[in-house]
Amino acid sequence: MTTLLEGKVAVVTGGAGPRGIGFATARHFAAQGASVVIVDLERANPAAMAAELGDGHLGVVGDVTRAEDCARVAETTRERFGRIDILVNNAGITQKRTLAEISGTDYDAVLDVNLRGTLLMSQAVVPVMQAQRSGSIVCISSVSAQRGGGIVGGPHYSAAKAGILGLTRAMARELGASGIRVNAITPGLIDTDILVGKLSDALRAELKAGVPLGRLGHPDDIGKAALFLASDLASYVTGATLDVNGGMLIH
Ligand code: NAD
Repeated sequence: MTTLLEGKVAVVTGGAGPRGIGFATARHFAAQGASVVIVDLERANPAAMAAELGDGHLGVVGDVTRAEDCARVAETTRERFGRIDILVNNAGITQKRTLAEISGTDYDAVLDVNLRGTLLMSQAVVPVMQAQRSGSIVCISSVSAQRGGGIVGGPHYSAAKAGILGLTRAMARELGASGIRVNAITPGLIDTDILVGKLSDALRAELKAGVPLGRLGHPDDIGKAALFLASDLASYVTGATLDVNGGMLIH
């Protein structure tokens, strides 16, 4: 049977959370024939999660805020698999803050993982993709970028995720001539660990009531959208923002 990602090599950052969007994406990619490299912090144990995907996948400890880690991930992937076809910039953190509460440390933490991490990891893989003259980069932004936050992230999270949309579009414009597509996904409210401790039952019910599809999202909902953008099904799609939010924001 032909699969969508047969022979492809995919790097997924922040991919080691068992209930997270990154691991769901990694699972969908592996099921479609890709060799997957899961990148995550040491405490998340990316090697163990890569082993969960089956044989032929790799877990690499890496912090996307560090350029040397991103370069090492790209080099390790190229050495092991000989190519890099797909990058999913998924690693992210959020903090619930009001505008006045955001400290310099908060700003640095949230901007660094979400936005700098997306830049650094893209910079690390793009030369490999350029040499191949093909590649697909999928950046995980958020509905928060579009609606002005107000759910589980403060204004600095909205700004970081909006920055990812600008970066995605600029990379798409610059890299199109090299055969590299770059797109963003703006997830709505997805039931993952990132919500833990940030959502009361009352708020969860209220938010759910505002979603036309009548439920919070599942990590698989994002994994499937990432699979579409990463694969040849989206061969003429670049610079796009794909809303995967159950209709919570229709614009
Ligand atoms: P999650 O907390 O399960 O996943 C985030 C992953 O990123 C974790 O595995 C974490 O260890 C990893 N990570 C954190 N800092 C890192 C770093 N410096 N380097 C490498 N890895 C790092 O949460 P999730 O909900 O699966 O989030 C995945 C992405 O989706 C994030 O970018 C998040 O902002 C975005 N998102 C989530 C939602 C939602 O409702 N869950 C909505 C919109 C966008």
